Amino acid sequence: MQHERIYLYLARMSDTGMEEKYIHEAFASRWVTALGPNVDGFEADLERYINGNEKPGSTTALSSKKHIAVFSSCTAAIHLALLQLGVGKGDEVLCQDFTFCASCNPVVYCGARPVFVDSEPDTWNIDPVLLEQAILDRIATTGRKPKAIIVVDLYGMPARWDELERISQHYGIPIIEDAANALGSFYDGRPCGTFGMLRTFSFNGNKIITTSGGGALVCDDEAIKKHTVFLATQAREPFHYYQHETIGYNYRMSNICAGIGRGQMTLLDDRLKHQKHIHGLYKEMLDVEGIMVHDNPSGKHDSNHWLTTILLDSSVIKKDVEELCVMMDQAGIEARVLWKPMHLQPVYKEAVAYVNGISESLFRHGLCLPSGPYVSDEDVAYIVECLKQAIR
Ligand SMILES: *Cc1c(COP(=O)(O)O)cnc(C)c1O
Repeated sequence: MQHERIYLYLARMSDTGMEEKYIHEAFASRWVTALGPNVDGFEADLERYINGNEKPGSTTALSSKKHIAVFSSCTAAIHLALLQLGVGKGDEVLCQDFTFCASCNPVVYCGARPVFVDSEPDTWNIDPVLLEQAILDRIATTGRKPKAIIVVDLYGMPARWDELERISQHYGIPIIEDAANALGSFYDGRPCGTFGMLRTFSFNGNKIITTSGGGALVCDDEAIKKHTVFLATQAREPFHYYQHETIGYNYRMSNICAGIGRGQMTLLDDRLKHQKHIHGLYKEMLDVEGIMVHDNPSGKHDSNHWLTTILLDSSVIKKDVEELCVMMDQAGIEARVLWKPMHLQPVYKEAVAYVNGISESLFRHGLCLPSGPYVSDEDVAYIVECLKQAIR
C-alpha cells in the first residue's frame, strides 16, 4: 500500500483562521501594499515575543529592548544588515561555511567577498577557535580587518554565542546573526535573534512560522530600524516629489503577508511544543547503533528543533546518504541530505575558506527528517521503521 507522502516541513495555518481574518481586514481596509496595520501589528507581535521572552536567571541578559522591521525575505534582511554595517566593494565578510546560500549571497550583492569558516562538531555552527584564527590570518594577509561576521543558528541550534560575542568585541568586528531557522530557540536563556549587532529571521514557507515569504531584521534602536526601512522602500527622501539621494531597494513586507504573520504568531507556542515533541520521539525511537540524533550539546543550548537531523556513523552504516534519501522517497518520505558547504559550491570556488573537515563530513553523513507541523506520532514511527529497514 502506498503511504501518504510525508514532507520535510509543510507550512500550516492556524486552526482558528486568524491568518484569513487579518488578510480579510487588509482587503476591507484597502491596505494591500507594503504599508499598513498588519505590518505594524506583526512587528509589534515579534517585538513583544523577543523582548518579553528572556528566561529568568539568564546570564547574557538583553542589553536593550529590540526593534524589529519586517521585509520581503530573510535574504533581503541580511542584505540590509550588511548595508547598515557599511559593507561595500573590496570588503571581506567572514561567513559560516555550513549553511544555505542565502546567508552569504548578500555579501556578494554588496560587492564584498565572503570568506568561509567551518563549523564545530557539537552545534554544527561556526567554530569560534577557527574564526579567531581566520580573523588573525585575514589581518596578516590583507592588512585589513574583515568588515563583519555572519553566524547562523542552523536547523534552529544556537551557535556558541558567549565565545562568539567575546571574539566580536575583542576584535571590534560586528556579527550578523542569521536566525532564519531559530525563532523560539534560546542560548543561555536569551532568545536567538538577539545576538550580535543585527539579526534576521525568515518566514519562508518551510520555516517555524510563515508569511508565505518574508523576513525580519532585529535592531538595537528605532533609528536603525527607520534607516533600514528607508533603504527597503527605495530610499525616498521626505519631499513632496520623488527625491532620491541613495540607491534604495524594494524589500518591504506587504500588508497581506504581514497579516499571515500575525495569525501565525498566535500558534507559535504550540508550534514550538510540537517541534520539541517530534524531536523527542525521534530520539526515543532512533535508538539504533550508528545513528546520532543532533541535540543540544549543553544546558545553555535550547534549540527549537525546526528540523530533526541525524548523523550516520559510516563505520557502522555502510549506505550512503543519497542512496538512503532515494529509498525513503520510495516509501513516501521526504528526507534530505544536510547543506552542502559553501566552499564546495561551484559559485564560490574562488572564495577563501578556513576548513577543518566538519562541514564536509556533515554533508556526507547527515540527513534531515520530516519534522513539520503535519508530522504525527504515527508518521515518526513509520519513518523510523523505514529508516531502520533502509540501513540494514
Ligand atoms: C531559509 C534561510 C534563509 C533565507 O530565508 P528567505 O526568507 O527565504 O530569504 C537564510 N538563511 C538560512 C539559514 C535559511 O535556512
